[in-house]
Amino acid sequence: MEGFLFGFGFDIHPLVRGRRLFIGGIEIPSELGALGHSDGDALLHALIDASLSASGLPDIGSLFPDTDSKYKDIPSTHLLLETKNILRELGINFYQVDITLILDSPKLSPFYGEIKGNLERLLEIPAERIGLKARRTEGVLFIPDRPAIIALAMVVLKKNLNAQDS
Ligand code: MG
Repeated sequence: MEGFLFGFGFDIHPLVRGRRLFIGGIEIPSELGALGHSDGDALLHALIDASLSASGLPDIGSLFPDTDSKYKDIPSTHLLLETKNILRELGINFYQVDITLILDSPKLSPFYGEIKGNLERLLEIPAERIGLKARRTEGVLFIPDRPAIIALAMVVLKKNLNAQDS
């Protein structure tokens, strides 16, 4: 027997000089990068939080605390793979994700293919079940001269209900 689980995630990171910009595990050429304890990959953080939420587990900050030096500058792809393993032990796998990114620059559409390809590989789901789009704020969302990246993620997970019995 199988059932579907649904979760929603949000993340935001300031964009500053002197940091690299990772989105969905892909480094994007940019003058500004995401400030954070890990590599600041807002897309993956929102995705992880949505997945944990859908599974009834504690959030990303509880699972991977930023007070733990183990997670300093860690690639968020590692956090996602660790999350995937935790879910798998509960008989839960990714089925579909839908992601919206909000930022003013750089323009992300040239990188959609590369980011989606990486998500396909990381989540082990086909491209047609990965939604990805970016929107600009038109100057009405962020504080002037305080650029940031916001990621919103919806996930659908598939749970093997037989796994609970074993
Ligand atoms: Mg984050």
